[in-house]
Amino acid sequence: MQLNSLGFPRIGRRRELKFALEQYWRGEISQQALLEQGQRLRRQHWLWQAEAGVEQLPVGDFAFYDQVLTLAATLNVIPERHRDGDAIDLDTLFRVARGRAPTGKSAAAAEMTKYFNTNYHYLVPELHRDQQFAIAWQQLFDEVEEVKALGYDPKPCLLGPLSFLYLSKTQGEPFDKLSLLPALLHSYGELLARFKAQGVAWVQIEEPILALDLDKDWQQAFAPAYEALSQAAPKLLLTSYYGSIAHHSALVAALPVAGLHLDLVSAPEQLDDFLPLLQSGQVLSAGVINGRNVWAADLDLLAKRLVPVADALGERLWLGSSCSLLHSPVDLDVETALAPELRQQLAFAKQKLHELNELQQLLQTPASEPARAIIERCKARREAKRLAADTAVARRIAALSQADFERDSEFVLRQQQQQAKLRLPLLPTTTIGSFPQTAAIRSLRNRWRKGELAEAEYRHQLQQVTRDSISRQLKLGLDVLVHGEAERNDMVEYFGEQLAGVGFTKNGWVQSYGSRCVKPPLIYGDVSRPRPMTVEWAEFAQSLTDKPVKGMLTGPVTLLHWSFAREDISRETICTQLALAIRDEVADLEAAGIGIIQIDEPAFREGLPLRRDQWQHYLDWAVASFKLSAACVRDETQIHTHMCYSEFNDTIAAIAAMDADVITIETSRSAMELLGAFEAFDYPNEIGPGVYDIHSPNIPDVAAMVALMERAAQRIPLRQLWINPDCGLKTRSWDEVEPALRNMVAAGRELRRRC
Ligand code: GLN
Ligand code: ZN
Repeated sequence: MQLNSLGFPRIGRRRELKFALEQYWRGEISQQALLEQGQRLRRQHWLWQAEAGVEQLPVGDFAFYDQVLTLAATLNVIPERHRDGDAIDLDTLFRVARGRAPTGKSAAAAEMTKYFNTNYHYLVPELHRDQQFAIAWQQLFDEVEEVKALGYDPKPCLLGPLSFLYLSKTQGEPFDKLSLLPALLHSYGELLARFKAQGVAWVQIEEPILALDLDKDWQQAFAPAYEALSQAAPKLLLTSYYGSIAHHSALVAALPVAGLHLDLVSAPEQLDDFLPLLQSGQVLSAGVINGRNVWAADLDLLAKRLVPVADALGERLWLGSSCSLLHSPVDLDVETALAPELRQQLAFAKQKLHELNELQQLLQTPASEPARAIIERCKARREAKRLAADTAVARRIAALSQADFERDSEFVLRQQQQQAKLRLPLLPTTTIGSFPQTAAIRSLRNRWRKGELAEAEYRHQLQQVTRDSISRQLKLGLDVLVHGEAERNDMVEYFGEQLAGVGFTKNGWVQSYGSRCVKPPLIYGDVSRPRPMTVEWAEFAQSLTDKPVKGMLTGPVTLLHWSFAREDISRETICTQLALAIRDEVADLEAAGIGIIQIDEPAFREGLPLRRDQWQHYLDWAVASFKLSAACVRDETQIHTHMCYSEFNDTIAAIAAMDADVITIETSRSAMELLGAFEAFDYPNEIGPGVYDIHSPNIPDVAAMVALMERAAQRIPLRQLWINPDCGLKTRSWDEVEPALRNMVAAGRELRRRC
């Protein structure tokens, strides 16, 4: 019974790769030094895996930027603009990823997009109509040799040809990507033959697109493709993850592959679909340890479930993580400051490997002393969770009624009352919340965290910052002000730290892209809000001006998606708990005299399931959670929401159902095209389409913003529109923000003058 590691995080338990990359990009270390750091990390990660009893060590999970980019380079899929001669080197990869590198000419970076439903971003390969493929980058072969030199068996892990094509985009004249499949298969054939010549026994060939709804032509491409690949290849472990592939079971069962990996965490039920379909001799890798979360597995329950499978399959059953461990933090051992009650519930990547090992022990020697100890630990953990439950939260949810989700009146009536109270001009101007997080502000927060700055002094200093941001906004002539969010390091962490049932690690970093990592909060228990979280800042800012200051909150759906959430209750229930906590804050803000409250939901779309037939269920509870968080206010209190992505066509009904009085969105770069969805839907509430691209250091001029708003007005009635930037301004400097906002306010005046 082999242990199957689908891949280990590359970033390092103290983010060593991040720091080495950034030093290299800044010219502080040589390329050789970066390469050596990479090698040290790989070695360390392989040794950890070997220690846990993993026999075949993954290769190809390491990448200097992104594993999809490494594969693209291997296949010579590198855009012309990033090349510097024919050969590819490490700087070529960095130019693709970042648009620039220590050597070579800068050119626009390739597009980066989210890898399926994860928070990991990959670089989208660019394909031309007459694309040629060739083996052009040796990293994977070199790493196979590294594993062999350590005395272990390497298992290359790579995206399969169909998923690679599917995730790529076409450049130039449009064409059917599948037309490139024969040429691509030829190169995959070469790649696999090289591995075989290196003595590789198994290759993990990943086809995560099997978890999606696929058109007929994509489905039909699988059989001939794998027929061709199986010729010269080592044994293939066809690997799926992030969802069920049971809807493609007939197709998958017929493929000539030596093994199949299933994600039995996201879709445990597919085990029953595939067991009767396994070919004789075919290996089943059961992905039962969650690669995407931080909680210790209940090995006792897992073993009970797997006993009949192990009996039926014997050696043909492998035990694996559900997906690559890329999405989980590296090592719990470095978390020395965690509360023991929380710590005992956790397992990071390194610990998950040991869980595989322990699961193997439970299955192979169930009566042994160590096995009994493992079972005891699982029971103790279960009991600790039960004792920690906050039953008041469950009672509060049980007592909710439909009325708690609805505002008192419908939008048109609320709008009248809000107009009467707020007296805003046509096309009101506002911003999305944050103002520049200057070095001085960051240093304030850091010194306060380290205990170098006393609480009272910290608050006093933050008040000065807030005072400054209010006075700047008044001078600029904005209509609806914000306090500026200087006290927030991050829009999720800030709330997470104040909510009961949510915890934090010191080093629980997960790669988001390249050298960027995030450290999501851990929602480990029932969530509630012991005391107000933002009221003090909103109240203070409002006390400085007669103009309305927006209260600023992160919404329940976004808090959920950007955290590691517990798994013993549904995501829907966790979201309801978060919604109630935010609702308490909304009520307190209103009671403190705040007339406009913004509840940001930038991650609303991220939660969409991989398959369409499950969308509606998600949208229903996500919308309900948002409404629950907001609906407690009086009609005259205006609720805003904000989303910073650019696809609304397929979810506009849900966006409308959220019933925010005002929604601000990111539109400046799409020339207002995405307002089309709102126009077609006859979206009734107010909209602030962004006119200032905050991702760019450029300062938009008055005419450009007037032109954008005129385009907006062709789609949405003027009296429904607001004027604002695309998103928060925390990453910009005041030198950029002040002139840009001055122009934005002038654009508003100009437009009003014309009406
Ligand atoms: N209010 C937040 C800010 O301005 C919103 C950030 C976001 O949408 N990602 O920073
Ligand atoms: Zn945003």
